[in-house]
Amino acid sequence: EAATPLASDTRSVLKTVFGHADFRPGQGEIVDHVVAGGDALVLMPTGGGKSICYQVPALVRPGLAVVVSPLIALMQDQVAQLRQMGVPAAALTSSLEPEAARDVRRAIDAGELDLLYVSPERLTAGSLLDQLARVPLALFAIDEAHCVSQWGHDFRPEYRRLPMLAERFPQVPRVVLTATADAVTRRDIRAQLCLEGAREFVASFDRPNIRYRVQVKTSANRQLLDFIKRSHAGESGIVYCMSRKRVEEVAEMLRREGIKALGYHAGMPAEERADRHHRFVNEDGLVMVATIAFGMGIDKPDVRFVAHLDMPKTFEAYYQETGRAGRDSLPAEALMLYGLQDVARLRRLVESSDAPDDIKRLEQRKLESLLGYCETARCRRQVLLEYFGETSEACGNCDTCLTPVETEDGTHEARLLLSAIYRCGQSFGAGHIVDVLTGKETEKVTRRGHDTLGVFGAGKHLPAKRWQGIVRQLAAAGLVVVDVENHGVLRLADRERVVPVLRGEAGVTLRKEPEGGGRRRGRA
Ligand code: ADP
Ligand code: ZN
Repeated sequence: EAATPLASDTRSVLKTVFGHADFRPGQGEIVDHVVAGGDALVLMPTGGGKSICYQVPALVRPGLAVVVSPLIALMQDQVAQLRQMGVPAAALTSSLEPEAARDVRRAIDAGELDLLYVSPERLTAGSLLDQLARVPLALFAIDEAHCVSQWGHDFRPEYRRLPMLAERFPQVPRVVLTATADAVTRRDIRAQLCLEGAREFVASFDRPNIRYRVQVKTSANRQLLDFIKRSHAGESGIVYCMSRKRVEEVAEMLRREGIKALGYHAGMPAEERADRHHRFVNEDGLVMVATIAFGMGIDKPDVRFVAHLDMPKTFEAYYQETGRAGRDSLPAEALMLYGLQDVARLRRLVESSDAPDDIKRLEQRKLESLLGYCETARCRRQVLLEYFGETSEACGNCDTCLTPVETEDGTHEARLLLSAIYRCGQSFGAGHIVDVLTGKETEKVTRRGHDTLGVFGAGKHLPAKRWQGIVRQLAAAGLVVVDVENHGVLRLADRERVVPVLRGEAGVTLRKEPEGGGRRRGRA
């Protein structure tokens, strides 16, 4: 092993090979740590510059660097880019002709390669590991590491075989990278990949150039058209829809409106998808309307907007999908439309899944967090970053910062609602509580004698729909707990939070009913 290279080596490689003037925040530290032979767990948002964290050490350390990635298209892109920069790199993928694969294997033996990209199944099955044991290795990089965890959103069983790298090559440093990892997934990655001793590097998840917007869905097509025509005419963007049918409809609608748009979903033949992916990356001003099948590995720097016409499943998914906008650091926008139907659909999805209970509970909590984000009156970026464990100032570049949400004093309503929950014994869902507040004499209400309570009818001044919204807001504010495992029964949250409100010592601010939130205007 050569002596520890100087920091100037890494910077000169960064400059001369990759053409970057300097490391981005975080990169330099990670590179130094890995060059010195340390294991690293790297959490960096999409577009943050993860590749540099192993590509520079790959060139500075002697030997071959092996990069594990689940995505053939991504591997091919990276290899092509590296070769263009004069770096000897190759990928071993299932799509390679046997002859080409033999050439790669020969180049490994001859020590001609600096980087080898390989899928996890290709690496761990067959004779490749035996071959790698015979040549000097610079490092292992494991990309998209959340694939190892069932808690993550993209579990791939092949990743579970990767701990064998630590067993067989204990002296070779491992860099493990992901753009999505809440605390649970992060711990799981460590445990599953035997990374107990690895240093953890967490880059800021802030993407300051992305402007976040969230709107209540009133007429999705019309809202999307307005958004594109007003702010993004002629620009590249991605529009996510939940179903294949919607993908086709929306792409068709955009084309009718003179916008260059293509659809993309898993029901299309593989060649067709590859062709459309290629067109999206290479053409200007193309809008891709897609399901989440259009996913990882979209390395297009100038995507100017990402629009979600349906609420995504989790915060992580939302963050990762919106992160495909503005990778060139120029201004970009993320628009999400959400409606109560989305919430109901996602709740059903979680409830009906056959995941173990603890995973279901986690998913339910994640869904509530995302809903809280949609309904917040605070800076969206603050809420988003808090979810990933960061604190920040109000950003001045999201819809709630730019057009402060209209709020009103809701202390009286909050007290009524909390009292009603309490008086009804904390054992009823929102529907019943709202019936009591609005004075509806349902069979259930009278049978329980809830029509004799002081709070019965005390909230008549507001419609039931508004009360439902207030329940969600108080849940998002942490005053009310929705017990999803018990039919959505409402309970009071911690005493320290609730008691001051009940006593009139603390006020509650509510977001005014969003525009169009109550009524449906036309069809989507
Ligand atoms: P990730 O894998 O984290 O999504 P990439 O490694 O693909 O991100 O990098 C995203 C973009 O940032 C690429 O276009 C890359 O060239 C650029 N980039 C990475 N590091 C730097 C740097 N130090 N200086 C300038 N640009 C960089
Ligand atoms: Zn903001």
